[in-house]
Amino acid sequence: MKRKTKLIHGGIAEDPQTGAVSVPIYQVSTYKQDGIGGHKGYEYSRTGNPTRHGVEELIKDLEGGTAGFAFGSGMAAITAVVMLLNSGDHIILTDDVYGGTFRVITKVLNRFGIEYSFVDSSAMEKVEKGIRKNTKAIFIETPTNPLLKITDIAAAARLAKKHQLLTIVDNTFATPYWQNPLELGADIVLHSATKYLGGHSDVVAGLAVVNSQELAKELHFIQNSTGAVLGPQDSWLLMRGIKTLAVRMEEHEKNTKVITDFLLQHPAVAQVYYPGLESHPDHRTAKQQSRGFGGMVSFDTGSGEKAERLLKKVKLFTLAESLGAVESLISLPAKMTHASIPAERRAELGITDGLVRISVGLEDVEDLIEDLTHALED
Ligand SMILES: *Cc1c(COP(=O)(O)O)cnc(C)c1O
Repeated sequence: MKRKTKLIHGGIAEDPQTGAVSVPIYQVSTYKQDGIGGHKGYEYSRTGNPTRHGVEELIKDLEGGTAGFAFGSGMAAITAVVMLLNSGDHIILTDDVYGGTFRVITKVLNRFGIEYSFVDSSAMEKVEKGIRKNTKAIFIETPTNPLLKITDIAAAARLAKKHQLLTIVDNTFATPYWQNPLELGADIVLHSATKYLGGHSDVVAGLAVVNSQELAKELHFIQNSTGAVLGPQDSWLLMRGIKTLAVRMEEHEKNTKVITDFLLQHPAVAQVYYPGLESHPDHRTAKQQSRGFGGMVSFDTGSGEKAERLLKKVKLFTLAESLGAVESLISLPAKMTHASIPAERRAELGITDGLVRISVGLEDVEDLIEDLTHALED
């Protein structure tokens, strides 16, 4: 099955009971047993629910893994996966991971003895240097936020295998439509399905897919034990969103190309960050491991003042955190998503006060260009 077909026919294509062409919402917590232990595959909805199972089967098929798991948020999925480690284990993470990942690693999971270090994973020799005796996993996010830095997934997986470590990839920005980390050798792939997979700014959800029965058993044990499962209504919404992922991703990218071209030639824009540009330092790696470059662009307006003025003047771009939805969103990382990072650290990462991030939506691109043109005027 080709990718576009899989989005429609992957997972559970129809309800076996009724033939309904969308998996029904099984709004239920428990299931009748015909005698003790005599159930039809479902006992209690934390352990398993048919609607959640629908989206878990779908993401498993889309990422080409052994089993999929749906959680109440991207953070719940990430936390459950890091819980595969034990107290005293060490994990290496991409230095500019999503802020929530940084927070849960440094402020919550550290309390349970999980050691961590953050390295620039776009340079694999730095990752190798960071490996310790107790290192158990490499956690990469690619592309990253907001500078769209790329890590070579296959190289990370090779390094991890050499040292018997797990390779975990946060694939939120690329989605399985553009990039499949398991096929490149990773062991676990994660998604904040709140973003492109849901795609309509109406659901918070997280997904994980593993590449072995052993990991599937362990992760199911953690999911069932800790209980941060996705509810049936949200599971259904997520499946509904995923059906149109191909057309949305193609269109996001088409609009983004027009917008990056516009930004590149604009005198008020100092720098444009987009992995699809040949000038992007990781363009070759991005091209090698992904089929597309996505709909996220960042650009430097030169100062915090100019950036804030732009944000005030735009009409179609909604000032908001999050990304990957049908509507275009705009944000100022230094004051919003990355405000909790100390100013010196932000400067090291290249997140200047004038850096603006946009998530290009599905509006007519001519309207988006007109909006930006007006907002960038003096
Ligand atoms: C949003 C996001 C998360 C967290 O997901 P939630 O659904 O908000 O919990 C994790 N990783 C990346 C890359 C994200 O963009």
